[in-house]
Amino acid sequence: GGRAEPFATFRLPFALGHGRKLLPPEPTDTLEAYRAQGGLRALEAARKGDLTPEALLKAVEEAGLLGRGGAAFPTHLKLRAVARGEAPRYLVVNGDESEPGNFKDRFLLEHHPFLVLEGALLAGFAVGASRVYLYIREEFQAAIRGLKEAIGALEEAGLLLVPTEVFQSGGLYICGEETALLESMEGRRAEPRLKPPFPVEKGLWGRPTAVQNVETLAAIPRILEGLEAWRREEPKLFSISGDVAAPGLYELPLGTPLGEALRRAGGEPEGLKAVLLGGAAGVFTRDFAFPLRYRERLPLGAGAVVAFGEGVDLWAVLEGLAHFFQEESCGKCFPCPLGTTVQLALVQRRVRDARLVEDLASTLKGSLCGLGQSAYWAYRSLLEVEGAA
Ligand code: NAD
Ligand code: SF4
Repeated sequence: GGRAEPFATFRLPFALGHGRKLLPPEPTDTLEAYRAQGGLRALEAARKGDLTPEALLKAVEEAGLLGRGGAAFPTHLKLRAVARGEAPRYLVVNGDESEPGNFKDRFLLEHHPFLVLEGALLAGFAVGASRVYLYIREEFQAAIRGLKEAIGALEEAGLLLVPTEVFQSGGLYICGEETALLESMEGRRAEPRLKPPFPVEKGLWGRPTAVQNVETLAAIPRILEGLEAWRREEPKLFSISGDVAAPGLYELPLGTPLGEALRRAGGEPEGLKAVLLGGAAGVFTRDFAFPLRYRERLPLGAGAVVAFGEGVDLWAVLEGLAHFFQEESCGKCFPCPLGTTVQLALVQRRVRDARLVEDLASTLKGSLCGLGQSAYWAYRSLLEVEGAA
């Protein structure tokens, strides 16, 4: 506390509505609706020169915003690295959400396109991007239409600070991996690149590029509206599904215990066999006291929480995941196609040998990208959950 906020000029009174909340109370799919619910103030301040790129970057840094795509990399570090690079620079919105269990980005894109665009334009403005690209999963056609309309409306209102266009993704899970995404934008087969160099250095067309998750960008206008409130209670979207009475998208403060999150969605932790936390690249757990925040014992991933009741055969679920990884492995590197194929065979035979799973893990850890590197987490965690039962 006690630190001055650098944006006193346009800080929103909380009475306007959402305050520290990420989601506006109602869908905001028109410019008027978004403005009526408190939107566009930060973007207007940037246009008028009341908000500088440096003040924006500082706010993101002070907010401690971590990337919401799953890897929780500090957003300000990424944006600053791109801002330091040589022009032309790009900002790419990763809207290729495909991880089983996650549906937050789709919701934001379909129902709050102006919020996503405001965040993307602010980030693009902060890094001095010459273009903003929205890379959107092919299946999200409603979102693609809505975003194109929203871009037109912002342009008409004189608020399109950076030229912006929509790019429809190639339709594979691996397209969401940021470097495969860039390859596909450049017209090549969507295969991950070796990192480093990270995209902040050599991204789209070899230029400094910030690839950011949809929810991360949507957080930026909120941070600018009230940094102190954000720091007191940081909102995060959780996609809660499975054996709960009211599956859906929930906005909860980071640090909410897993059991509490489940209860919010009408679930009863006591009656569950396990939860898959983080989606396909996640873990099974029964630790209902676990605080849902980053850099803890369990990975939060992009915030998927899938609840499994007593009647569910968790091995059948795991088999589905193993099948998914084996099928989505792009085949570029060696450990991943091999490891995911062996994993599927082991899971199909219900092999519970922890040593074999550690062998599998050591192979998969050598994979080129996150898909292979995290493919065994669910398998290993299921053995742990069973061992503890
Ligand atoms: P990563 O840790 O390699 O990178 C995270 C981000 O930080 C990237 O943008 C990367 O470029 C950047 N970065 C990392 N180190 C950097 C450095 N030294 N300098 C500059 N930038 C740096 O992770 P990843 O492979 O991009 O993502 C893995 C995550 O994706 C997993 O945790 C998983 O949860 C998640 N995931 C999400 C979905 C989804 O649909 N949302 C799908 C699959 C996986
Ligand atoms: Fe492709 Fe798998 Fe290697 Fe990633 S880890 S590059 S998905 S083969």
